[in-house]
Amino acid sequence: MSAERRKPVGWQEAQQPARVLLIDDDVTIHSLVTAMLKSIDVQVTCATDASAGIERAMTDRPDLILLDHELPDTTGVEVLARLKAVPQLAGIPVIVVTASERREVLTACFAGGASDYLRKPFFGAELRARVQSVIDRQRMVAELGRAAHVDSLTGLPNRTLLHLRLQAAIDRTAERPDYGFAVMFIDFDRFKIINDSLGHEVGDSLLREIAQRLRENLRAQDTIARDAVGPTVARLGGDEFVIVLDEIADISMAVSVAERLLPSLEASYDLGEHTVRSSASIGIVHSGAGYDLADDMLRDADIAMYEAKARGRNCYAVFTPFMREAVRNRLRLENALRDAIGTDQFYLVYQPIVSLATRRMESVEVLVRWRHPELGLISPVEFIPIAEETRLILQLADDVLRRACHQFLEWRDRLGDAAPNYLSVNLSRVQLADPSLTDRLFSILEETGMPADGIQLEVTESQLMQHRGVATELLGRLKRHGIRLAMDDFGTGYSSLSCLQEYPFDVLKVDRALTENVSRGRGYSALLHAVMTLAENLGLDVVAEGIETMEQLVMLQALECPLGQGYLLSRPLEAEALESWCLEPSPLATGAL
Ligand code: C2E
Ligand code: MG
Ligand code: MG
Repeated sequence: MSAERRKPVGWQEAQQPARVLLIDDDVTIHSLVTAMLKSIDVQVTCATDASAGIERAMTDRPDLILLDHELPDTTGVEVLARLKAVPQLAGIPVIVVTASERREVLTACFAGGASDYLRKPFFGAELRARVQSVIDRQRMVAELGRAAHVDSLTGLPNRTLLHLRLQAAIDRTAERPDYGFAVMFIDFDRFKIINDSLGHEVGDSLLREIAQRLRENLRAQDTIARDAVGPTVARLGGDEFVIVLDEIADISMAVSVAERLLPSLEASYDLGEHTVRSSASIGIVHSGAGYDLADDMLRDADIAMYEAKARGRNCYAVFTPFMREAVRNRLRLENALRDAIGTDQFYLVYQPIVSLATRRMESVEVLVRWRHPELGLISPVEFIPIAEETRLILQLADDVLRRACHQFLEWRDRLGDAAPNYLSVNLSRVQLADPSLTDRLFSILEETGMPADGIQLEVTESQLMQHRGVATELLGRLKRHGIRLAMDDFGTGYSSLSCLQEYPFDVLKVDRALTENVSRGRGYSALLHAVMTLAENLGLDVVAEGIETMEQLVMLQALECPLGQGYLLSRPLEAEALESWCLEPSPLATGAL
């Protein structure tokens, strides 16, 4: 069998030659063995007596020892005993070389821990075969040990090794009261999308790049204390990484590491043909909270990471015990949501958007409601973020659109002129980033017979900021198909006026917070006036959201705000109630009040 074919599975290329230490008092044997082993990939060093041999073994840490049994002052069995007594040397395989034919000698050698034996005189081929076989076996064992502890994709410690190190650190806190460490749980915010849309190979390259950045960022500089072990960067699986920061007296040191890591992980990744960006969310927990088990500490770091995601991603959160309850509730809701999708637990309500001058209903905004059989009515403010996180929103949004289109067309048939002109539908940030959005949307319009120019899609400014790259192209495409676009909740985020110019909006919806302030003083109404003037110059219709009082309505009318929406005009109504409202609007909306 060739040396190449003898390599075990998982064999690493470019290995160092194996080091063989020969302990033999006969120097001619030294030259003979060295010459015989020349043709295989080993490096031979020699010693002439037991003490020199053991000393040499301590400094060189050979992969194999060839031990002459008949040494002048001692026997191979005794040397074996001395080797096995030193922990650092006990694992090195030993081949005993002997001229003895006696069975007791061989038995004693094997009992003493020899891996194999070779009878003098020996041939080159025999020596090479024995040496090679012991080295291969030794390497295979080492490789299997390595594979059990290393993540094969990134070369980082895996979950098993992380557990061992974490548990060792926890045990250390019990021995040394002054010792502390921190655990960081890192998850990538867009990994799944990148992996699904660009393929697993790109996903794998991204993970390798991330591992490299983590390694580089933590190298040396975070080994703060002199006797610290240094940071452990491990990959748990998927896009989850864990860092153990050793010798961290308090949480502030871990926080500064997180603050340094976040921008470095956010910088774009060059992966061959693709350049991708992905921020990270980091959960941090400190050993000071008193842990006995590695699993408990990892779980809390994971909970803190979820909190960071809920706070808007690309940030860190430090674990606090009350987060546990919040996560439990969230999980409960997440499971209930999974079960509810596609059932009649969801129903739709419609809120009129009304002309403040003529009081005519211009459009309706469809809003989804969830009534859970046990948990009762759950607000979209609570469940939409969970539906987004789990991407269940994609199916939910399709259901909402399909049902609302049917309803809208039915009104057109039944109400004639009194029917709304447009159906306003909220778009989620997840839909905005979904490459299949336009296909899904147009297939529902086709299926229901809904004309594209009857649809108005509402997006918020923060969504646009998050998806700047795709948004321009996407909104342009929707617009070309005749769909109207509304900017929702203007005034809550950046309120960037450039955003209004940059994208082809038709409608600007001013957030309730601005409407509320309009009756509070001249400064606020001047602000709204400025926004309206700008919108008018850009050819946008303005809707004031959240009109609740007569005072607000009067002020808005004085400012000549064209459209309004709010509880004063009408609460969101179920389809039937909306129909009655259309046929017999409330006294207020008819201008009777
Ligand atoms: P939004 O798009 O800004 O919708 C307006 C919200 O303001 C609705 O809350 C509505 O009930 C509420 N509202 C209307 N008039 C008044 C008022 O006079 N006073 C007050 N205090 N509130 C008023 P809702 O239905 O709870 O929805 C909250 C948010 O959830 C929506 O904000 C929207 O972002 C999201 N959402 C609701 N339904 C859907 C949906 O089907 N898809 C998506 N993607 N998001 C939805
Ligand atoms: Mg809206
Ligand atoms: Mg809104």
